[in-house]
Amino acid sequence: MQVYVDGQFVPAEDARISVFDHGFLYGDGIFEGIRVYDGTIFRLQQHIQRLYNSAQCILLTIPLSPEDMRAAIVDTVARRGLPNQYVRVVVSRGAGDLGLDPRLCRRPSIVIIADTITLYAAHCYTNGLELVTVATRRTPTWALDPRIKSLNYLNNILAKLEAQQAGVLEAVMLNGEGYVAECTADNIFFVRQEQLCTPSTAAGALQGVTRDSVLDVAQALGLPTTEGFFTRYDLYTADECFITGTGAEIIPVVRIDGRTIGTGHPGPLTAQLRQGFETLCHRDGVRVSLHTTCAALA
Ligand code: PMP
Repeated sequence: MQVYVDGQFVPAEDARISVFDHGFLYGDGIFEGIRVYDGTIFRLQQHIQRLYNSAQCILLTIPLSPEDMRAAIVDTVARRGLPNQYVRVVVSRGAGDLGLDPRLCRRPSIVIIADTITLYAAHCYTNGLELVTVATRRTPTWALDPRIKSLNYLNNILAKLEAQQAGVLEAVMLNGEGYVAECTADNIFFVRQEQLCTPSTAAGALQGVTRDSVLDVAQALGLPTTEGFFTRYDLYTADECFITGTGAEIIPVVRIDGRTIGTGHPGPLTAQLRQGFETLCHRDGVRVSLHTTCAALA
């Protein structure tokens, strides 16, 4: 397996960045997680757009044009050779000195890793997940806009640990005002009276590519959608609930803070949306001609 590091493909075990890289020292950088389904890079354009928007917001000039970034991602996926992959693109501020000053980082580092991922066991998808609301809040918009997909995940990691300490796998994170924002690495949706609702980005949600895709699928199915400000009351009294993310895809939620959601089983609209999403995954993206050699599969 080869990893793209600053324009070169190197064996994974030799892939290195500097210990002076401010991505490592300070979390100064941005990233994307992207799926490949049957040789199609799902919504690559949307991921590249979000990456460059994040870069623009943190005053980081990516040393590749969006077209060259796209070509580098396609090349990495082609070399990996597997029909289904998870791709991590990281752009950090680059190597500087031990101070915070980003101007001393001469050139941002770019790493692209194409591998596989399994975040949750199969039974979570069939039986549904349990969530708990945790004390750690989502970063407020006035501190760091949640639409920036940055390398700063410490509060999300603390939230994940809190959920695990409570004996469940994922957490509901609220914003500073107590409105539901999202989960630690996933967006959250609920269905009430045949209406699909999800927290707006102004409430602290990342603008997830999966979230946007699910909203598109819902619109195509004629299901009304609302992006807004919701409290835990809205989750507790929902008919159905699910979470979405590139890694997790779509997972039904059947219990939150000890309350049973709907029937306590994955709901019919969730199933319909998952089916629509699956169809979209194989259709909407950039097709790659995979190098399916033994080396690529190693
Ligand atoms: N929220 C957060 C905090 C995330 O890190 C992610 C990505 N794992 C998501 C939501 C889901 O976004 P996407 O669908 O683009 O993967």
